[in-house]
Amino acid sequence: GPLVGNLIGEGHANYVLMFNMLTGIRVAVSRCQAKIRRPLTEEDYTAAHKYSFDFAGNELTPSTKYDFKFKDYAPWVFRELREEYFHLDPADYLLSLTAKYILSELGSPGKSGSFFYFSRDYRFIIKTIHYTEHKFLRRILRQYHEHVTSNPHTLLSRFYGLHRVKLPHGRKIHFVIMNNLFPPHKDVHETYDLKGSTIGREYPEEKAAQNPRAVLKDLNWINRGKELELGPEKRALLAEQIRRDSALLKHIDVMDYSLLIGIHNMARGNRDNVRRNTLKVFSPEVKRLRRKLTLGKGKGPLSPEAAEMRRVVRESDPQILDPSDILPDEDTGERQHFLFYQDEGGLRATDEANDSLNKIYYLGIIDILTPYTTLKKLEHFWKGLKADRHKISPVPPVEYADRFFSFMKAIMRGGEGGSRFKSE
Ligand code: ATP
Ligand code: CA
Ligand code: CA
Repeated sequence: GPLVGNLIGEGHANYVLMFNMLTGIRVAVSRCQAKIRRPLTEEDYTAAHKYSFDFAGNELTPSTKYDFKFKDYAPWVFRELREEYFHLDPADYLLSLTAKYILSELGSPGKSGSFFYFSRDYRFIIKTIHYTEHKFLRRILRQYHEHVTSNPHTLLSRFYGLHRVKLPHGRKIHFVIMNNLFPPHKDVHETYDLKGSTIGREYPEEKAAQNPRAVLKDLNWINRGKELELGPEKRALLAEQIRRDSALLKHIDVMDYSLLIGIHNMARGNRDNVRRNTLKVFSPEVKRLRRKLTLGKGKGPLSPEAAEMRRVVRESDPQILDPSDILPDEDTGERQHFLFYQDEGGLRATDEANDSLNKIYYLGIIDILTPYTTLKKLEHFWKGLKADRHKISPVPPVEYADRFFSFMKAIMRGGEGGSRFKSE
């Protein structure tokens, strides 16, 4: 992607970016948090607080080793969302993100070029977003806020903050902080990213057999004959929430979002420790850095910059870092407030009599910031020439939302299954 696609090849560029993102969050969020809460005003939705970081520092910002600018968007709105509706403890939020400057990088799993980072305790995801997504989130922030207010159990991504880092050469990186749907303590044995569209929506099964972490799609779900195993009550509640959430998405004119489903099989437990094994704490970056820093060893006192780098490297050394140090002892508190995240952080499968089955679903609606732009309209036109235009994914928002909702209802137990969504 054009935004950060080349950062990865730029030596330590991602390290610097991470450092700046976390410094900005730490300073900006604690500044807002230090003030006494007040009711939101009209201006709060459009506000953008600017910070300038450099070695000299000033009354707003501490001295930092890199020069960069930081913008905190609608800080009061996000503060209210976090505290009032998402049940996050303010100190806890900041500590999770910035107590140590460690993020693990998932890289860029989608086609969009966005980068994903996990906080060290795996609770939060930082996703870099495109400028158009950023602009869009600011534009719909009031509606999002209203939706969350009237839908405390929403399945939509929980946005905790919207920020921007501007590097000295002018590159601007926008990012959101959101909830990780998947729990820190449970292996997710199967993952599906479902849109209700079947054209091109298949992860090759041969590859899936090799890769337990593959993100599977609509056709894999259908061809494997899967269904969401939920009793009548949970089914009705979930369907109603998806209906309301997709109504909002329709209203704000977005498309391309998906229902992400992670399945934890309780009989298999956590013995795979899939996540812990793949939790790489910036290891290639760190290794390169370490090599660099040890080269200068024993040649006089370290520069403050090198000393700081060393400290960070030491802190992020996977050898020293005990994984249990990264993960909280039990599932964190906020999920207990949410209907669909109550059972060990997720939604326990049930049978028709509402008795529990040995499965936990972790689900939510993600990637909700793609407005139906001219670009998509064009894409729609070209793809529409080749295939049934109702089955390809870039259809207009109303059609997208309706198809999404009926697909999700169809895949619940007792539904008709997803196969009617397949092309002939
Ligand atoms: P594209 O636009 O090509 O679909 P993207 O860069 O916008 O990609 P997303 O669709 O938001 O990325 O996410 C890509 C993948 O990252 C998802 O399929 C999922 O596996 C993982 N992911 C995204 N958001 C979350 C989340 N909140 N919790 C857990 N995993 C997530
Ligand atoms: Ca997506
Ligand atoms: Ca996207």
